[in-house]
Formats: sequence, structure tokens, C-alpha cells
Amino acid sequence: MAGEPQVYLVGAGPGDPDLLTIRALKALQAAEVVVHDGLVSDEILDLAPASARRISVAKRKSRHAYPQEEINRMLAAFALEGLTVIRLKGGDPFIFGRGGEELEACREAGVSCEIVPGVTAALAASAGAGAPLTHRGLAQSVTFVTGHAARGEEPDLDWPSLARPNQTVVIYMGLSMAETIAQRLLSAGRAAATPALIVVNASRADEQRVLTCLGDLSLAASTLTGPALLILGEAMSLARLDQSPAELAALTLS
Ligand code: SAH
Repeated sequence: MAGEPQVYLVGAGPGDPDLLTIRALKALQAAEVVVHDGLVSDEILDLAPASARRISVAKRKSRHAYPQEEINRMLAAFALEGLTVIRLKGGDPFIFGRGGEELEACREAGVSCEIVPGVTAALAASAGAGAPLTHRGLAQSVTFVTGHAARGEEPDLDWPSLARPNQTVVIYMGLSMAETIAQRLLSAGRAAATPALIVVNASRADEQRVLTCLGDLSLAASTLTGPALLILGEAMSLARLDQSPAELAALTLS
């Protein structure tokens, strides 16, 4: 992968190394520097050569975090040194991952940037639970939104639109704002009985699934911690809680 300066912006998927793409694996195997965030597991990082330098720019709340500008600068600097730089991000780099900003920074620095897509958390969560994000008669569309907002504020979302029935709404980074989100959707008219699935650590050994309804979402969310998705919609009535990732793997391989 040597040649002109280049950064590979790689999606690491939701956690299970089996959900990496072959292209992501190849990129990792060629890495000289891996710059990764906190959601990427050691199992995946260990696929890079032992000689590759690993830099964690973990962004989990309340831990030391690199400012985004510093990450952008670092990526371009390594590439300009002639190193093969892999910027490894959880899920897909372009879904709530600030991948677009890193891409722009590379372009501005004269560094080309190749994007390797990844399995975003919503796809792994829905597959694990056996509940489709779209389903004839129950979900004509799916929308990915972020529940994250600046400190003290609430997410600026189009509540009347998200409150319409027969659609799936996947909320990333929404666990700590679940109460506000549920209230806004209920006041905008979404039925309290609408099925709601919470998936923590999708595709990992410690995956947890809770099936509830919009009216009880806030209570259910208050008992959980960790990277989680709130998935709301009629099609979540198909969710199963009893399939562990290990059982799923056994099912698909045998
Ligand atoms: N680019 C990532 C999302 C980054 S935002 C992707 O495409 O998946 C970080 C948020 O993603 C977390 O707060 C959580 O809401 C969600 N998330 C990431 N990995 C997850 C996982 N394995 N299980 C559940 N939610 C996850």
C-alpha cells in the first residue's frame, strides 16, 4: 500500500471480528499505524501486525479524549511521513463517526483517503435480535438518528415525523437521553404500545437485549449502561431475546 500519502478510513464493524469486511482485514494486515477509537476491541486490533503502532484516541465519555483537530492532524502527519495509516472506527466510519471530518482534513492536507465501509451497529443489533429494520406491513422505512446533544441540551430531531407509525427509528447514543426522547415521541403522537428494543454491546459476547415498549422505554433504559441502540418501531415485535451471539454463529456455520 506504499506510494502517495494515503489514509485508510476503515469501519471495524460492531465488535465481533467475524463482522469485519475482508477489505478491512486486508487494510489492517498492511497497517504501520492504527489510530482507533474506544469501541474497537483488542480482538480486532490484534489482526494488525505486532509491529504496527497503535494509538487510542478513545472518545468514551469522561475519559481522556483527543480533540478532533488533533486526530485529523495526526492522520495527515503520519501519512505524509510515508506510513500506511489505518484510522479504525467502530461500525461504519460515515455513520455518526465524524469520518467525514477526517476525510475533509486529509483532503485539505493533500492526503488521499480511502473509505472501507463497515457493518453499522443498527444492522448487527437487528440481525442479532431477528427483528428486521424494514418489514412489509410494519415498517416502510428506517431512520438512523443520534440522541446525543451538546451538554444540557436535548437532541434537535423532527419529532412529528419520527412519531408516525409503521416506521423504524434507530437511535444511536440515546441511552442517557431515553426519557426525553420517549416523552417527545409520545407527545408527538407515537403510540405508547409501540415495541422498543434496546441492544447493548450488539454482536459482542456480553450483548444484552431488552424488549419493551415506548411507554416503558425510559424505565428500561435507566437500568442499562454501555454502547447501546434504542430501536423503536412495530417491526421490533419480531425480536427474540434468547439468541446469544454464540448461538447465532453456530446456527449460521452448521
Ligand atoms: N460509527 C458507529 C457509530 C458511532 S456512534 C456505527 O456505525 O455503528 C457510537 C454509538 O454507536 C454508541 O453510543 C451506540 O449508540 C452505538 N454503538 C456502536 N457500537 C455498538 C454496539 N456494538 N452495540 C450497540 N450500540 C453500538
